[in-house]
Amino acid sequence: MSNQHQAHPGTLSVWAGEEKNMWQGSTQVPVVHSVAFGYPDVDGWLDVALGREPGHIYSRNTNPTVQAFEEKVRQLEGAEGATSFATGMAAISNTLFTLLSPGDRVVSVKDTYGGTSKIFLEFLPRFQIKVDLCDTTDHAAIEAAIAQGCRVLYLESPTNPTLKVMDMARLAQAAHQVGAVVVADNTFATPINQNPLALGVDLVLHSATKFLGGHADALGGVVCGAASLVERIYHFREINGATLEPMAAYLLLRGMKTLHLRIRQQNESALQIARFLVQQPQVSQVFYPGLESHEHHDVARRQMRGFGGVLSFMLKGGFDAVRAFLPRLRYAHLAANLGAVETIAGPPATTSHVECTPEEREAMGIPEGLIRYSVGIEETADLIADLRQALE
Ligand SMILES: *Cc1c(COP(=O)(O)O)cnc(C)c1O
Repeated sequence: MSNQHQAHPGTLSVWAGEEKNMWQGSTQVPVVHSVAFGYPDVDGWLDVALGREPGHIYSRNTNPTVQAFEEKVRQLEGAEGATSFATGMAAISNTLFTLLSPGDRVVSVKDTYGGTSKIFLEFLPRFQIKVDLCDTTDHAAIEAAIAQGCRVLYLESPTNPTLKVMDMARLAQAAHQVGAVVVADNTFATPINQNPLALGVDLVLHSATKFLGGHADALGGVVCGAASLVERIYHFREINGATLEPMAAYLLLRGMKTLHLRIRQQNESALQIARFLVQQPQVSQVFYPGLESHEHHDVARRQMRGFGGVLSFMLKGGFDAVRAFLPRLRYAHLAANLGAVETIAGPPATTSHVECTPEEREAMGIPEGLIRYSVGIEETADLIADLRQALE
């Protein structure tokens, strides 16, 4: 095989980042449960501490298992650098607090993930950071807000839970004209379906808790982008201490071995299920970027290779119908999570936007009668049969 050959995401999911962190011929990355790393002499220790030699000093800063995870995601996102966090929210808050200072302005959209919107509405204003949240699908309004000048443009596409799609290349271009850093939450798409850095975004981040890990048994977050930016975020994180645990890093690494297989199955099932739901008389609306009827299906087709494993839909009977419908599902956990091998369903009031009041959800355009349905890796026909019996 020539050195020029660029491996595909499916191969990188399995192999990337692991080799350097093996031990004594192990074929799996060991879980290094060590707080600190010892040195026989001070000079060698100093070389590592000062960054002259590779190595580890203290696991709040770096750890071999954690580094293997960062390297795998870095390669999948085609980034220069990557750093990881205890959770997705830690990745988001550390990134924003690294980039923003009092007096700065950030432009984003109304229906970012619930925790993210809390940072925008509750925490950043306390530090005299101005936040301008635009209508998510009104690209002209977002461009107008950017043109007034901003330090950060923060995107999420597709959004949680209404699956809105933003044209990242177009918005990144507008942001770069005013010198802003463009950040994108790629949790829903995963690097298998979409690479925001290739669309002009500067920093791509994930809640690794979701699809990357895929097994709903570990929390984690990760940020990828230019080494100079990632270095600044890493420095903020090593001091404030929102570090990924080695055991969680191991579980995420193990989950990622099957990332491309899971995503392939979930893309396929979600599209079939969305098409099924559209035809059901009890369903008033279906949100999925893979449907031709989706408002930005053309943008989604341009920037995504698959449309992802999450869809949402509304029942005609509103929240009462949701309350009756959900417990009838045989193959779905009713839980506040997504991206796992099992199907998971729930309303925004108890999942993505549990932190928000009904009024805040209303203002974000998130209807109370909505059901978010995260498709697992079960057989598609069984999931459709399950939805059919629950609707009846
Ligand atoms: C879950 C989620 C987060 C937050 O991740 P945690 O790991 O729960 O902190 C951020 N963004 C999106 C899109 C999510 O779905």
